[in-house]
Amino acid sequence: MAYKGSERMSIEERDYMQYLFGKHISQGQVTYLRTAHMDVYERNRKGATFTDAVSGKRFYDCFSSAGSFNCGRGNEAVIDALSDALDTYDMGSHLLLSENKVRFAVKLASLCPGDLNKVVLCATGSDACAAALKLAKGATGRNDVINMLRGYHGLQGFSLSANGKDYYKELFVPLMPGFHVVPINDLEAVRRVASRNIAAILLEPTLGEGGIHPATQEYMNGLRQICDEHGIMLIFDEVQTGFGRTGALWAMEQYGVIPDIMFTAKSAGGGVYVNGAVVYREIEPLVSYVEANPLFHTSHSGGTDLGCVVTGAVLDYIVENKVWENVATAGRRFKEGLKQIARENSDIVKEVRSFGLMIGIEYKYEFIAAIMSDCLAKQGLWAVFSANSPQVMRFQLTTAISQEDVDGILSGIRAAVKEMRIYLMLLLPLAKVPMIRKVLQNTKYQIKAGNWMRNLEEFGNRLFPRRAAPRRPRPLRAAFQRLRMRAGSTASIVRK
Ligand code: PLP
Repeated sequence: MAYKGSERMSIEERDYMQYLFGKHISQGQVTYLRTAHMDVYERNRKGATFTDAVSGKRFYDCFSSAGSFNCGRGNEAVIDALSDALDTYDMGSHLLLSENKVRFAVKLASLCPGDLNKVVLCATGSDACAAALKLAKGATGRNDVINMLRGYHGLQGFSLSANGKDYYKELFVPLMPGFHVVPINDLEAVRRVASRNIAAILLEPTLGEGGIHPATQEYMNGLRQICDEHGIMLIFDEVQTGFGRTGALWAMEQYGVIPDIMFTAKSAGGGVYVNGAVVYREIEPLVSYVEANPLFHTSHSGGTDLGCVVTGAVLDYIVENKVWENVATAGRRFKEGLKQIARENSDIVKEVRSFGLMIGIEYKYEFIAAIMSDCLAKQGLWAVFSANSPQVMRFQLTTAISQEDVDGILSGIRAAVKEMRIYLMLLLPLAKVPMIRKVLQNTKYQIKAGNWMRNLEEFGNRLFPRRAAPRRPRPLRAAFQRLRMRAGSTASIVRK
């Protein structure tokens, strides 16, 4: 039996869970999350929110697992589709034809613009990125790729090599050769490297992990033209921008620019299953390449019968509810609210950028976003900064977010900024000294300091428990629990 979390978790249980996570998965991850009060256990995952099992506090999910929950947490239509499918299907044999694969491919193709008609079944975003690059390289017979500075496509193989931040790559050199990194929205930089050696230009229509940088219309038009001139395959990674997130089903529709290849994943699984896909144009040399090499990219966990049913239900939900309409209005309201907050805090905020419900607020110093995550968590807002641009706090609310919830989130952000100001009274003057600024920007020191403060806070909470504090076990019950946990050890957790 899988471990099923009960509705609430005592502090003792939480500590024990953290101990086990640290022992068997990663103590570093526990420490990292603890420092920012992000060591929460999600319960009642519904729509735009979840509650923390320890404190019972409601959290707005402003991260959506980097765009995995576009249809909201626990979407009933998607869960029903998966439950129904489980009555009849399992994953299916990956090599065989199936009506679910056909229905999924037909639906996906019909919802993509132009001649984006052909589908490669995949599992994750990283997997789909590999399939897209293999297709471009194989079909053109060329090796090199132009990719974006701070771009993010996953952390495996091809996608790691295409990552636009050195930090992820340094430990694993040599990686795949032939990636030319250019800044987004700089057409001249692309023109300088574009040649008949380049197989593909790969980009997210808005850099997500890269700090919410939307590509401009001029840039997209220019890329299309350069690709046409040199026979280069234009690849859009719609893993974060797809499924309604930017105010259209796909971001490419907003530009009216059709890539040769696009790929998607994450929200394709509706937050309850894994699925992804590459969609490519019905053109040469792509079609001939796949016909000659039908097994050039297979996956046992991508395009399964269950995955295809789930993605079909996600697409139906998004199209029937025209979620992009809400994304456009909620996105505008949220952006305006954030811009107002930015104006009131112009000494620390550099810029607010957005595309639909992909919204980022860039701070002047990197360490501010780390403190902001912590202050937001204390206000019941679960949000994290961009992995490849840590000075940018990004917000990716569910596409069905209501106006009231947008306003509630904005009030939470205001309260978080107010609290953050207390820390900044000391830190901002210190940050003016280059040596100290270097220390403040260092993630290792940030984590050490945050963890130390968290320990102090917990110590204080134990000494002076607040009335409204989370349910704490009584001493006898706690001692009993400790004994039971020691006796049962990990096995008791696994058996539950
Ligand atoms: N592409 C983009 C734009 C992403 O944001 C991500 C993940 O964050 C990926 C690809 C990789 O997806 P996965 O984690 O499913 O491999």
